[in-house]
Amino acid sequence: MDQSLREALRYRGCLICHVLDKDESDFMAQLQYQTIKEGKVRQDVVSSNGYCNFHFYQMARLASPMGNAVLTKELIGTEIEKLETGSFGSTRKIDCAVCRYIPKREDFYMKEFKTLLQERSYRKEYEGTDGLCLVHFKRILNSTHERELCEFLLSAQVMHLKLLRIELESFISKVRSTSRDMGEEKNSWLVAIERMVGKRGLKK
Ligand SMILES: [Zn+2]
Ligand SMILES: [Zn+2]
Repeated sequence: MDQSLREALRYRGCLICHVLDKDESDFMAQLQYQTIKEGKVRQDVVSSNGYCNFHFYQMARLASPMGNAVLTKELIGTEIEKLETGSFGSTRKIDCAVCRYIPKREDFYMKEFKTLLQERSYRKEYEGTDGLCLVHFKRILNSTHERELCEFLLSAQVMHLKLLRIELESFISKVRSTSRDMGEEKNSWLVAIERMVGKRGLKK
């Protein structure tokens, strides 16, 4: 789970989204394993009322049908008990463990990112990436008061967006001309979607 934003420089898309996605998958894999093996962990998940919509389906794909049946049986049992004892409230809230975990990792990476940007060499490398998604770009800017750093981030963002626009133009013209010679621009539309909203399931 200990990743670094240094390694994320090699991948396409927002580097903070990239490491978060990896952490989220590792966390979910570990949690689903513990949910099967450890009654205490399963009980915690049950008392949190399971997972949010997005993560429940993700967790279900990681678990076996048997694991899913054991967990949902317990959740349903709790619901029946609440209904029968009249303690089922319309305010029943899901306190998803994965949703609670992500913001902590996000804070950690945002701090790491700002520290790394103090290094000139890291800035150079960052310029060679796809930059940050809009969600993380705004979060970083809102938590930074250093003028020089803000200016660097703003100019890098414009450069990254212009390069992505060129890739999209190249993709569109290649598809129109039915060219089979696709390069990096092959996934440009997917990079562009992530660019606007962040990784799949990222909360605003
Ligand atoms: Zn992002
Ligand atoms: Zn969730």
